Amino acid sequence: MSLIVSPRVVKLTTRTEVDIKRNLPHQTLRRIGAWVFLDHFGPTKQVDGMVVAAHPHSGLQTVTWPFAGMVEHRDSTGVVQMLRPGQLNLMTAGSGISHSEQSQVGTDSLHAAQLWIALPDSVRHMAAEFEHLSDLPVLHLDGGSVATVFIGTLGRVSSPAKVFTPLVGAELQIKGSLELPLDASFEHGILAVNGNLFVNGHRLETDQLIYLEPGERAVVTSETGATALLIGGEPFDEKLVMWWNFIGRDHDEIVAWRESWNAASVEWPAFVDEIGGRIPAPELPNVRMRPRL
Ligand code: MN
Repeated sequence: MSLIVSPRVVKLTTRTEVDIKRNLPHQTLRRIGAWVFLDHFGPTKQVDGMVVAAHPHSGLQTVTWPFAGMVEHRDSTGVVQMLRPGQLNLMTAGSGISHSEQSQVGTDSLHAAQLWIALPDSVRHMAAEFEHLSDLPVLHLDGGSVATVFIGTLGRVSSPAKVFTPLVGAELQIKGSLELPLDASFEHGILAVNGNLFVNGHRLETDQLIYLEPGERAVVTSETGATALLIGGEPFDEKLVMWWNFIGRDHDEIVAWRESWNAASVEWPAFVDEIGGRIPAPELPNVRMRPRL
C-alpha cells in the first residue's frame, strides 16, 4: 500500500523565518527505515535565509543536502565546513554535539533538504563525528536518468558515508520512465523536489512524499524532467523519544540533556561562529513523554 504525504509548513528557528516543509515525522508516517525527520526548504531568493545559532543534538545523525546555495557548518568538535550542491554534510551526534548553520550570500537561490537518521541503541552513545563528502557515486539509470547516492546503497553503487543501519539516500534526476533498483527488504519514500513527477502512476506535487512498503516497486516518470529525493531503509523497530533536537529512549534522558544544554555544561563545548549566541531548549511538555515506534 502506498501513501502520499503532504508536508506541514513550519517556521525554522532562524532569524529570517524561512518556511520549512516537513514530511517526517508525520501523523500518518513516523519514519522510513531509520530516517525519522525530513525537512525541505526553498527554492528561495532569500539566500541569507538559514541562520541557525548553536544548538545541540544527541542520538542521531544529521544529513544536509543542498540543491542550490551554500551553507557553512560549524560545530563543537572544531569543524568549519562549507557545503555546496552535490556534497553531503553528515554529522553523527552520538552522545552529544552542538553546531550552527549559516547560508551564504553570493548565490542566487537557497534550496536544501535536511534529514535525521536515528542511531541504533548499540552505537548511540558514541563520540560525535563529522564527515563532509564531495565525491559521491553516481548511478546511471535507464534513459539518461541519474542517481547521486549520498547514503547507503542503490543498485550497484554505495556511498562511503558512515551509517549504522541499512539505508539508502539519493538525489534522482529523472527523465522519461524507469523502474528504480530498490532493495526489496527496505521501505522507501520518494519526495518530489521539482518538476513534473509520477510514481507508480500517482502524480506527486512538489514537496509531496510517496511512501512505499518493503517489496513495493517504484516506476518513476517525468516527461519534462524532475528532481526527487529517494530515502529508504530496513524497518527500524526501536522505540524512541524524539523531542526538540534530541532522540533518546526515555523521558528522563531527554530531561537530562535539556538541563545540561540550558546550563551550558562542559558536555557542550562552546565554539566561535559569525552568528553568535545559542538557542535555548524550550519548555518540556506537561506530560511524561513515552517511547514510541
Ligand atoms: Mn541542527
